[in-house]
Amino acid sequence: MLRIGLTGGMGAGKSTVARILADRGAVIIDSDLVAREVVAPGAEGLAALVDAFGADILAADGSLDRPALAAKAFGDDESRATLNSITHPLVGQRTAELIAGAASDSIIVQDIPLLVENGLAPLMNLVLIVDVPEGIRIRRLVEFRGVLESDARARISAQATDEQRRAVADVLLDNSGAPDDIVPVVHRLWEERLLPFEHNLRTVTSAHRPNISIVDPDPDWPAQAQRLIARLWGACGALASRIDHIGSTAVPELPAKDVIDLQITVADIAAADGLRAALGAAGFPVIARVTHDNPKPTDADPDGTNVVLWAKRLHGAADPGRVANVHVRVAGSPGQQFALTFRDWLRADATARVEYTEVKRAGAAKAAGLIGEDAMLAYLDVKEPWFDAAYERALAWRAAGD
Ligand code: ADP
Repeated sequence: MLRIGLTGGMGAGKSTVARILADRGAVIIDSDLVAREVVAPGAEGLAALVDAFGADILAADGSLDRPALAAKAFGDDESRATLNSITHPLVGQRTAELIAGAASDSIIVQDIPLLVENGLAPLMNLVLIVDVPEGIRIRRLVEFRGVLESDARARISAQATDEQRRAVADVLLDNSGAPDDIVPVVHRLWEERLLPFEHNLRTVTSAHRPNISIVDPDPDWPAQAQRLIARLWGACGALASRIDHIGSTAVPELPAKDVIDLQITVADIAAADGLRAALGAAGFPVIARVTHDNPKPTDADPDGTNVVLWAKRLHGAADPGRVANVHVRVAGSPGQQFALTFRDWLRADATARVEYTEVKRAGAAKAAGLIGEDAMLAYLDVKEPWFDAAYERALAWRAAGD
C-alpha cells in the first residue's frame, strides 16, 4: 500500500489533482470530509464537543453550528487546544480505519489542506504539492469560487507559505497554467512513479539505476536527503541515535551517481533488524542479501566473516523517482564511523575530491555498456583499491584534527 500526501495552498488545485488521480484508481481520503464526518449528528465527536462547549454550538436540526463553535473555540488558545484534542484523534482514527479498509495494493492519496502546518509530511511515502503562486490562487478563488478577495488573502496568510510547502515537496506539480496543462503531468506521474513505487513496496523491491552514470552535483541533493531523513525518523523513532546524509551526494560540488546515501545509526544489529518492517512501510524495503560492508584491510573481523565488526543492514528506496540507499550501522563500528569521516574528509579536502572524481569517472568508464550487478562489479573494481588507501588517509585526517 502506497501512502501519498497531497496538499497545496488554498485554491492551488488540490481537488482538481485528486480527481485526476481518482480517475486512475487512487483511493482518495479527503481530510476535510473526514473532519466533517467525525462531528456529524450522532457521531461521538459531536457529543464530545457539546460536553466541552455547551449545547448552544448546535443548530436547530441538531447538526453542528460551525460559526457558533468557531466563536467559542477560536477565542483563546486553551479552547482551540480543547477543540483539537477532541477532533484530531477522531480524524486520525477514522483515517486509519479507511486506510486499513483499502486493498493491499492501493495507492492512497490523502488530500490534506494543512499537511505542512500539521507536520504530516514525514508520515507519507511521498508528498505531492500543487504549486501556484499566491496571486494567481487569490484570483482563482475570487473568480471561480466566489470568495471575497480580502477573505482569500486572510485565509491564505494563516496557512503555510509557498516556501514552507516547497521544502517538503517530493513532487512539485505546477498548476499555474491552463486547466488542462496539469492533466498529462499527473498521468505521467501515475504511470512512471506511483504505479512502480507501489509495486516495489508490495514486492519488497528497491528502485535502482540500471547502469553507472556519474552526473554533475545537484544543489538540491541535500534538501532531498533531509526530506528522506525526516521520513526515516518517523519510522525509527527512538531506535535510531542519529540519521545522516553520507556519501558523495553529501559533499558539495562532487560529481556522483544520482543516488542519495543515508546512514541510520543504531545501538546494535538487533535494533537494525527491528527496524526492517517500519523502514519497509516508510518506503525503504530491505535488501536482505547484504549483511555487511566490504571490510577495510586494517580493520577486518578476526574470524574473517565480516559480519561482526562490519555488519550492516541495507535498505533501498522503493521510489523510482528518488533512488536512495539507507545503510543501518551500529554506533561506533568502523563502517559507521568511516561513513561520517570519509564524507567530512572529502568536504574538507579539495584534492581528495578531485582524485575521487577521477576514480569514479574511470570506474564508470569501465562499467560502460554493462548493466545491473556486472556494471556495479566493474565500477567497484576500479573504486575499491583507491578506497582502501582513502580509508587510511581519512582516518589520519580525523586523528590529526582531534
Ligand atoms: P483547492 O482544492 O486546492 O483549494 P481547487 O481544486 O478547488 O483548489 O481549485 C480552485 C479553483 O481553481 C477551482 O475553481 C478550480 O476549478 C480552478 N482551477 C484549478 N486549476 C486551474 C487552472 N490550472 N487554471 C484555472 N483555474 C483552475
